[in-house]
Amino acid sequence: MSAAYPGKKKLGAVGYPAWLKENGLTAYEYSFGRGVQMSVLRAQELGDAADEAGISMSAHAPYYINLASNEAERIEASIEHLRKTAVVASAMRAKRVVFHPGARGKLSEKEAIENTRKGIESAVAALKREGLLTCWLCPETMGKSAQVGDLEQTIAFCMIDECLLPCIDFGHLHARSLGRFGSREDFARALDALENVLGVERAKQVHIHFSRIEYTKAGEKKHWNYEDVQFGPAFDPLAAELAERRYEATVICESQGHMAEDAMIFKRIYEEAMK
Ligand SMILES: [Zn+2]
Repeated sequence: MSAAYPGKKKLGAVGYPAWLKENGLTAYEYSFGRGVQMSVLRAQELGDAADEAGISMSAHAPYYINLASNEAERIEASIEHLRKTAVVASAMRAKRVVFHPGARGKLSEKEAIENTRKGIESAVAALKREGLLTCWLCPETMGKSAQVGDLEQTIAFCMIDECLLPCIDFGHLHARSLGRFGSREDFARALDALENVLGVERAKQVHIHFSRIEYTKAGEKKHWNYEDVQFGPAFDPLAAELAERRYEATVICESQGHMAEDAMIFKRIYEEAMK
């Protein structure tokens, strides 16, 4: 089975939901990683196509958001990127907006975390003021030790407001731990931590990014495909935990090249675990 989307040139993103449905997939994360360049009208069209195909949409905010910064302008610009993402996300009826909290730079970890906490507070307040908080806002666990966002920090950020839900990138946890994270017990402990702080009902909705990943001593280096088994983590132990706990998580595949193909593999593994 070839899983490459055939209509990229002809249909663009708007044709993608129907194609995902045909291939048995149910979620689509649109990346605004390099900036929000989609018009509201186009976002509405994408949302219509997603509704019609029964595809759950999420939006990934620009990569250059940095709420850990000491510079007020940097925080303001980051909030503006989130705001722009929220505008198109709302137009496409996305259920989650994912963002990278920030990078530490020369700051101490403590200071960077405190800045990020305040930055998220301001961002949530700004989005609420404009009525733009129409879905979950998801800080993501990050793969490099110089980035803010290990599992514990990410869960703690979500205590700031009820609109926040963790995006757990398990590849990133694997890279950040230099390969130590990946056993069934590790996944169970991570989900336990989530449940203990946020409660089971919220934890069950968790947003997940998954891919095999290569790392150096600084953490994340490169995402790989699921067939690249020399890199961890494997999906089976997570699928077993999600199935056993009856989670209603959204799992987004972030493989290097075969995203949709690998997403189909994840779905098969999950369905097997549900039996
Ligand atoms: Zn991300």
